[in-house]
Amino acid sequence: MNGPAFPGMMARVGTYERRAPDLDAYHERARTGPCFVCGILAGDPDFAGHHVVYEDDHAVAFLNRWPTQYGYTLVAPKEHREQATADFTVDEYLALQRLVYRVAEAVRGEVGAERMYVMSLGSNRGNAHVHWHVVPLPPGTPYDEQQFAALMLETAGALDVPEDEKADLAARIGRRMESTP
Ligand SMILES: [Zn+2]
Repeated sequence: MNGPAFPGMMARVGTYERRAPDLDAYHERARTGPCFVCGILAGDPDFAGHHVVYEDDHAVAFLNRWPTQYGYTLVAPKEHREQATADFTVDEYLALQRLVYRVAEAVRGEVGAERMYVMSLGSNRGNAHVHWHVVPLPPGTPYDEQQFAALMLETAGALDVPEDEKADLAARIGRRMESTP
C-alpha cells in the first residue's frame, strides 16, 4: 500500500516507500497506553516490531517502529526514568551518552549519513520514558528536507521496511557496535 506522496521529500530511501502512519492512533496510544519502552522490555506483543539492536544491564537500543529515516534507532535506560538530565547522576548520564555514541557510530557505519542527529524529546503526557533519538541523515538530502523535516512523521512519513529486513538491520548495527569502543 502506498500512502500519500510527501511532496519535496525524497520519496525513496533505497527501495523503501514512504507512507503516512495513522497519526491519530499513534498519538492516542502514546498518551493513553502503557509505557512503550517498558512494554518492549517486558516482551509485550503490543510492542513487537521494535527490533532490539543492543541491550545490557542498564540500557537498551532498538529500531524505531516508524522510521522516518533508514537506521533510525532509539536508546533508553531500562529503568523507567523520565527527565533527560534530572533523573540521572552525572555518571549515569555519561554512561548513557557513551552508549548513544556507540549506537550512532554503528548506525553511521552501517547505513551512511551526511550527518548524525542525536536528541531527546518525549513528553510527560505520552512517551514519558526518556529516550534518545539517533538518526542518520541520508547523504544528499536537500537542505529544506533536513533537520526536523527529516525526523517528523508529519513531514517525512514512515519508511515501509519489511520486518525481516528490520531484524537483519538491527543485527548488523549490533555487530558493528561490538567493534565500536
Ligand atoms: Zn517506561
